[in-house]
Amino acid sequence: RTGNAVITGASSGLGLATAKALAESGKWHVIMACRDYLKTARAARAAGMPKGSYTIVHLDLASLDSVRQFVKNVRQLDMPIDVVVCNAAVYQPTAKEPSFTADGFEMSVGVNHLGHFLLARELLEDLKASDYPSKRLIIVGSITGNTNTLAGNVPPKANLGDLRGLAAGLNGVGSAAMIDGAEFDGAKAYKDSKVCNMLTMQEFHRRYHEETGVTFASLYPGCIATTGLFREHVPLFRFLFPPFQKYITKGYVSEEEAGKRLAQVVSEPSLTKSGVYWSWNKNSASFENQLSEEASDTEKARKVWELSEKLVGLA
Ligand code: NDP
Repeated sequence: RTGNAVITGASSGLGLATAKALAESGKWHVIMACRDYLKTARAARAAGMPKGSYTIVHLDLASLDSVRQFVKNVRQLDMPIDVVVCNAAVYQPTAKEPSFTADGFEMSVGVNHLGHFLLARELLEDLKASDYPSKRLIIVGSITGNTNTLAGNVPPKANLGDLRGLAAGLNGVGSAAMIDGAEFDGAKAYKDSKVCNMLTMQEFHRRYHEETGVTFASLYPGCIATTGLFREHVPLFRFLFPPFQKYITKGYVSEEEAGKRLAQVVSEPSLTKSGVYWSWNKNSASFENQLSEEASDTEKARKVWELSEKLVGLA
């Protein structure tokens, strides 16, 4: 049968390109989990996604209630859930002050990590129940959270510290808007959220791979310098970033190519290994990449998991 894949943030950029690649393969039905229904419907149509190859279901990751409602709605579709892709993200590099989700968490970590954490934990039940031969839960990572790379060493660097801000509720009270409890920095909050994404994928693998057979994976699809992710950056940055990535760092990848890469992680029979962070070399061949010390710290992964459980009401 056709597989069913939930993709968060499928209204633009990487999520949309992946949804399109999967839908066009004829082997997948895509559940586009998005906060803006009309934008998503227009984007799917403009991308030429075949009619009947997708269903749009409302999801706002900045609200835990919305995440719970999404899970209910998706179960009512009466379609098995075979793959879940946690892709949506916000990036606020120029924000001077933190903003907060409906539950009062700093926005970048609240959306990119905590919203997805609850979603993934809930949908694990559905993945378990599916009879699909290769079930997968994919959490999109990034090079910028990996301080063992050049890009990851551009300040401000990711650093979760001793997690005191997360433990205090990440609610901005007494400077707890950042995971490490330091002063708010929007660019760093994004990178920290990506470290949480990569730690969470590995913790899922350790806790659930053997029991469930689900493949847990993360990836860095390349620098997709043209997506909406950079919408809040200053205009000069947005003008110079794509050519800089194309001609200087040569890390640039088109949205279409990045979508094909993520679609491989969803469906390629050869990419079933669990606990892996995939990257691609210049010839577009995938390989298992090394994570930074912090992004592969098992003790930190366990602590982030336990603190996140408390914040989203699972513990
Ligand atoms: P885009 O900004 O194009 O896409 C982000 C998506 O997330 C949009 O669909 C957006 O919805 C959605 N989103 C944002 N906030 C919420 C929310 N509260 N609830 C639900 N959905 C939300 O960025 P990209 O495609 O570049 O980013 C996709 C992923 O790729 C991210 O995880 C990012 O970290 C990762 N990545 C990107 C790289 C790049 O170079 N661009 C490099 C490495 C990783 P809406 O359309 O409504 O705004």
